[in-house]
Amino acid sequence: MTDNADLAALIRTIPDYPKPGILFRDVSTLLLDGQGFRQTIDRMAALVAPDTRLIAGIEARGFIVAAGLSYALGLGKLMLRKPGKLPGEKIGVDYALEYGTDRIELHTGQVRPGQKVVLVDDLIATGGTALAGIDLIRQAGGVVEQALFIVDLPELGGAEKLRAVGVEPTALIG
Ligand code: 5GP
Repeated sequence: MTDNADLAALIRTIPDYPKPGILFRDVSTLLLDGQGFRQTIDRMAALVAPDTRLIAGIEARGFIVAAGLSYALGLGKLMLRKPGKLPGEKIGVDYALEYGTDRIELHTGQVRPGQKVVLVDDLIATGGTALAGIDLIRQAGGVVEQALFIVDLPELGGAEKLRAVGVEPTALIG
């Protein structure tokens, strides 16, 4: 394993999922490869800004990335969850995504005002999910200036949308 092209080779593309015409990047094959996953986390961990206090992962594949990074760096992890999953008091944001609409929620009181939070997910496409995550963390009082992904699909413009709200996105592949 020497460069990100090797990681890209571990991700398979499934045509017509979840709808005809969509090419789905399936990271389950990367997760299956222990060394590939370790390389993924090590490379992402090296990119996390030093003053970061929390890693925020978006349910569900973002949790896998966030768990690896928070373990590697000894940082706490925030779970941005699908609706109805969090037991405590929460705030939420509704958003449009590539294949419909969705909502993510976050427990209140889990971000201290001004804490630096890095948002992570497996993939950024249109950017709608990541923008909702940024909105949610900012509503909670956190400062988000960086977002990390395994894959960016640049033709869908998500990275540009993040830059427009003051967040620098970085992806290992894309
Ligand atoms: P966006 O909101 O940027 O359009 O879509 C990104 C979100 O949808 C992420 O949470 C990501 O997990 C999921 N997603 C959209 N397209 C794909 C894809 O082709 N592969 C994977 N693994 N996830 C996708």
